[in-house]
Amino acid sequence: MNNLAKKFHQDAAHMAENVALRNVIATGLGKYAEGRDKKIADFQDWQKARETASQIKRESLNNLPQNIQQLTEKLTSRGTHIHFAATGSDVCRIVLNILRQKKAKLMIKSKSMTSEEVHLNKALEKEGFKVVESDLGEFIVQLRQEPPYHIVFPAMHLTRYQISDLFHDKLNSQPTENPETLTMIARQNLRSQYIQADVGFTGANFAVADTGMISVTENEGNSRLCGSLPKTMITLIGIEKVIPRLEDLPLFLPMLATVGAAQNLTAYNTLYSGPKRPEEPDGPEEYHVILLDNGRSRLQKDPVYREVLKCMRCGSCLNVCPIYKSVGGHTYNATYSGPIGSVLMPKLFGMAAYKHLSFACSLCCACRDACPVKIDLSHLLLKNRETLSSQFAPKYEKLAFKGMSALFNHPLFWSLGKKLAWIGQKLHPLIEGSAIDPAQCWTATRKAPKLVWHSFKDLWKKYKS
Ligand code: SF4
Ligand code: SF4
Repeated sequence: MNNLAKKFHQDAAHMAENVALRNVIATGLGKYAEGRDKKIADFQDWQKARETASQIKRESLNNLPQNIQQLTEKLTSRGTHIHFAATGSDVCRIVLNILRQKKAKLMIKSKSMTSEEVHLNKALEKEGFKVVESDLGEFIVQLRQEPPYHIVFPAMHLTRYQISDLFHDKLNSQPTENPETLTMIARQNLRSQYIQADVGFTGANFAVADTGMISVTENEGNSRLCGSLPKTMITLIGIEKVIPRLEDLPLFLPMLATVGAAQNLTAYNTLYSGPKRPEEPDGPEEYHVILLDNGRSRLQKDPVYREVLKCMRCGSCLNVCPIYKSVGGHTYNATYSGPIGSVLMPKLFGMAAYKHLSFACSLCCACRDACPVKIDLSHLLLKNRETLSSQFAPKYEKLAFKGMSALFNHPLFWSLGKKLAWIGQKLHPLIEGSAIDPAQCWTATRKAPKLVWHSFKDLWKKYKS
């Protein structure tokens, strides 16, 4: 077991005992589920909407190079600087170059999981730049120096009391239990940062190929301020977020708001098409769009895993997953957690490092049913396991499964095996759970069923007449 896997198991065990934190998550996600179901009911035909969204995303991925070309041509024609980043370090290098060129000191950021993926903040801070997160949840977790807990709700694991204590410690504010007051404290703190920032940075939800536009959807207006107050703006977007047409947005925007935040539509929806034009009163004088690959084009060429690139990062699969709800977001120790993370992390960052995540799943299929773009995550997790068993399983495990296969396929072996297992259980204490390393033992957290000499089949034969 590698270190990431060990840590996952340890943290999951701690989380299982942390009833208070599990209650915070259960309450938050319970309220979300109620609201989401009401909003889904507002769609005339939710299943048809899902099918259409899935088809559009699939079509877009099938024509990805053409769509990217169309997008970049349109954006360039209006004065936007386009950068292609093959890896995460390319993104960091490109952003650092822009900051240096602009002699910037401070960059204000709105929420971007893609920037988390490439560890952008760390890279910039290492070079002496100040980076401030402006999304309320991100602002909170940045103060705590921890990664987001959830891809949509970064601070969902914290209570208002914990946030009040945090603000008191870090911002010298008066303790309060009022969420509105807490929001105002964050807001007052952030306002001056927008004014002082030399560069604004945003993520993006969609990139529209036919009109050459970047679509950003949010609820706080912070992203819009990041894009309108600083003189230079940077947007980072994964190449899979390109959709073919502007006319697809009226489907995707309400769908994302419905499953992402239990809303009909988010409060702010902005389309960026380039830097400020002479007749416009505000907006950036210089606009940079970074298109990130980081393994996505490899996935795009894979006929099975290409499906995962349809993901809109709505978080819906996390919200329904019994494993995510039990172990929590930080236990995954990965940029993308929950069902989507368990599929994506091994495919993007190495099967060997993240193979344990493919087993963080009971195969209940709730994620498949919750996904607005119909990604069959449970099937992909099974495919991951298939790859793992053929590539990574130790020889003794392969041998054991061959033995099990012979046992299950031959009635005589099976009958004999049952008797031997009964004797084995009597003789061998390991089966009762006293393994050398208790954490490794199947029975460390379960009770092994007590085997019997006479099976139901034996008794049936004996008594049926
Ligand atoms: S199938 Fe697995 S990953 Fe998906 S919701 Fe169920 S337990 Fe979670
Ligand atoms: S896999 Fe589906 S449900 Fe999960 S985050 Fe992506 S779009 Fe949302």
